[in-house]
Amino acid sequence: MLSLDFYNPTRIILGKGRIAELDRHIAADARVLVLYGGGSVERNGTLDEVRQAMGERHVQYFSGIEPNPAYETLMQAVELIRREQLDYLLAVGGGSVIDGTKFVAAAVNFAGDPWQILLNGGENVTEALPLASVLTLPATGSEMNNGAVVTRLADKAKLPMHSDLVFPQFSVLDPTKTFSLPARQVGNGVVDSFVHVIEQYLTVVGNNPLQDRFAEGLLQTLVEIGEQAVSETDNEELRANLMWVACLALNGLIGAGVPQDWSTHLLGHELTALYGLDHAQTLAVVLPAMLQVRRDAKRDKLLQYAARVWQLTSGSEEQRIDEAIRRTRAFFEAVGVPTRLADYGLDAACIEPVLQQLEAHGMTTLGEHGDITPEVCRQVLELAL
Ligand code: NAP
Ligand code: FE
Repeated sequence: MLSLDFYNPTRIILGKGRIAELDRHIAADARVLVLYGGGSVERNGTLDEVRQAMGERHVQYFSGIEPNPAYETLMQAVELIRREQLDYLLAVGGGSVIDGTKFVAAAVNFAGDPWQILLNGGENVTEALPLASVLTLPATGSEMNNGAVVTRLADKAKLPMHSDLVFPQFSVLDPTKTFSLPARQVGNGVVDSFVHVIEQYLTVVGNNPLQDRFAEGLLQTLVEIGEQAVSETDNEELRANLMWVACLALNGLIGAGVPQDWSTHLLGHELTALYGLDHAQTLAVVLPAMLQVRRDAKRDKLLQYAARVWQLTSGSEEQRIDEAIRRTRAFFEAVGVPTRLADYGLDAACIEPVLQQLEAHGMTTLGEHGDITPEVCRQVLELAL
């Protein structure tokens, strides 16, 4: 086992009808800003439940946080908080709303230009407003982690930040609030959580047997329930399990003490920023090609993945690896997320701008060995056409 650091202060409150418990966890004298997105939480009744639970507290609302939250929008929330002297943030929605709220929490009292927070990956954050979330889309794990991804539209830059100061204090996960999700977003969530696990698992074979088993359990559960969770729009049991898997996939537990990759995510962020693909769509496109290109560097772990997640134990090593990658791609397709750039109307002309953005953002040594250069990314994208 490598030495490890595991810290996670977020309380998870999972179950139907539990939004009412907000009242117990937010101080009665808090001056709260509720942040949400384009209106799904108004339409599916989540916001009404939040409003009721908040009782007599001073509450203001900020709507319009878009998918892949925009710096420009979030800075309007920062201004509102400063003006109204609000002191507690409640994100109600999917990963974009929670991520955006984390950035806002860090930006409100930041000395200097808040864009510097993202240019420094969050390392320069020294204080943040307390925040919590009501999650409506199982996918990102943002409800229980210290990360956020924000896009500045002006320069098409989508950058991640991490800070222990932006862990939500608590997150409410009511599975019935996911019933209104379109199939596309549930499928996206399955793919995003799957790839979160893969980026922390599929590196090298080390002396971390428990971490491997945790990761394989999450992957197998996603394979078992993924398709049904997409098609059965009001299956509370399945949605509750999906929420819990997505949460555990990126709350720091399975990544503690093991090497991590993240090249698929970082390459995917550029595709979203430049061409507007959903986050999970970029992952479904990049991951199968990335595994193909890096099959030698990842050989031993790919064979373990093939055997333990897909029960592939016969045939040559090359055949087992090919089949594991094929099944991964087929799984993404089965939950409704296409896996080729062409499926999103993109051709070879899309590649060069991505490589330029990677260079501009200093993303030139990606992966668990730091050897994924823009040139390797070119091969990946060519294979993903
Ligand atoms: P999202 O961008 O938060 O939401 C996608 C869409 O789903 C929105 O249009 C939203 O509509 C809608 N929606 C949400 N809940 C709904 C519900 N219950 N019923 C109907 N529609 C609903 O999607 P996401 O996949 O959760 O978040 C993606 C973002 O998270 C990306 O920017 C990605 O880079 C980031 N991310 C963060 C982490 C992390 O660790 N922090 C990890 C991976 C990815 P409304 O706007 O109307 O609500
Ligand atoms: Fe992700």
